[in-house]
Amino acid sequence: MDFSLTDEQRMFRDTVYRFAKAEIAPLCEEADLKSEFSYQIWRKFGEMELLGLPFPEEYGGSGASIVMCCLAGEAVAHAGVDGGHTLAWGAHTYLCGTNIMQFGTDEQKKKYLPKLATGEWIGCMGLTEPGCGSDAAALRTTAVRKGDKYILNGSKTFITNAPLADVFVIFATLDREKKHKGITAFIVEKDYPGISTGTPMHKLGCRCSMTSEVFLEDCEVPVENCLGGEGNGWLIALAGVEWDRSTLVAPFVGGHLYMMEKSAEYANQRWAFNRPIREFQSIQNRIADMKVFLEAARLAVYRVAAAKDNGVALNPLEAAVNKVYLGDRGFQLASEAVDLFGGYGFIHEYPVERIFRDTKLGQIGGGTSDIMRMILARFMMM
Ligand SMILES: Cc1cc2nc3c(=O)[nH]c(=O)nc-3n(C[C@H](O)[C@H](O)[C@H](O)COP(=O)(O)OP(=O)(O)OC[C@H]3O[C@@H](n4cnc5c(N)ncnc54)[C@H](O)[C@@H]3O)c2cc1C
Repeated sequence: MDFSLTDEQRMFRDTVYRFAKAEIAPLCEEADLKSEFSYQIWRKFGEMELLGLPFPEEYGGSGASIVMCCLAGEAVAHAGVDGGHTLAWGAHTYLCGTNIMQFGTDEQKKKYLPKLATGEWIGCMGLTEPGCGSDAAALRTTAVRKGDKYILNGSKTFITNAPLADVFVIFATLDREKKHKGITAFIVEKDYPGISTGTPMHKLGCRCSMTSEVFLEDCEVPVENCLGGEGNGWLIALAGVEWDRSTLVAPFVGGHLYMMEKSAEYANQRWAFNRPIREFQSIQNRIADMKVFLEAARLAVYRVAAAKDNGVALNPLEAAVNKVYLGDRGFQLASEAVDLFGGYGFIHEYPVERIFRDTKLGQIGGGTSDIMRMILARFMMM
């Protein structure tokens, strides 16, 4: 058992970190204040070849391992890039792109992956509906085959990147009676007749990712855009969730590291009662707790990533442990960081305010902490 990174992995993480710190992070504060997605930042992600990181080289990607993907996510967030742009990247690459990469035909991969890899096209994935999120298999969007097309009807909500997207991976059911066995995935382009998106939603955090509803009204999808075959949508959704829980958690590690560094810096420079606040035990305990979390979270994330790289198939138990730990404990500690900054923690001047807002999504997106506990309890007791 070897927990150390290779030289190549360390160098890759450092390169991404330095690039993101110099080129992307300085643009983030203003974008977050305005709740705006920045195409300039998006192009920088593309320049660094992050948008197609795990895609095979023949489809314009870098063929990176899952550990490498996690290192990139950690490095970008550690550099101070906001949760919104990081989420936009994650939804594009890991929720849309990897579904096409894993389940697409050669034609689909050739058509979509190179454009997603450069960022010329933006991708999103629509599973959640207004009536169901946690119980995603209860989805109501329907697909009916008519000649050489499928006709989709229904709506999706909370879809990251939807207002900007060129390519949508949409889950619909061919037969609700069959429950999850009727669910099928489709690649839908923004110009297909019958697809439209709502106005971007105003959010608590991750404000620079654009989130909206997706409406499908007699939306016509060519039969060749069925992804992975009829009735295989639930397996695809589960595989997507697995990517989500093994890669999209890594930026929480990097964001926490950034927060810990900023907290330690502040504790050194802020004085109260004629001494720097670092001399107070309550402040020291908060920094120590952040370090304990960082080390444990990092081990947990890379253990799942390495297992997935080594061909271990679905690992819902460990992925759920990670998600609930990073989500719940990460949010508690972000709240502690706000406390450490006192009044300055509550206003925008320091990054902890944004980190606190962004971190909340860790307990909700991609499966709530309650659902993670439900999965864990099932494994432990049934
Ligand atoms: C910013 C943002 C971005 C998102 N991006 C995407 C995206 O790109 N694509 C996409 O498809 N979805 C996306 N989502 C949706 C997200 O995955 C869902 O919001 C999440 O899975 C929860 O579903 P829900 O909102 O319907 O909550 P509900 O399922 O309605 O849950 C409501 C409450 O009930 C609890 N609950 C539900 N069932 C159980 C149970 N069995 N046991 C215990 N408690 C339970 C939940 O934990 C929660 O507290 C996004 C959400 C947000 C906020």
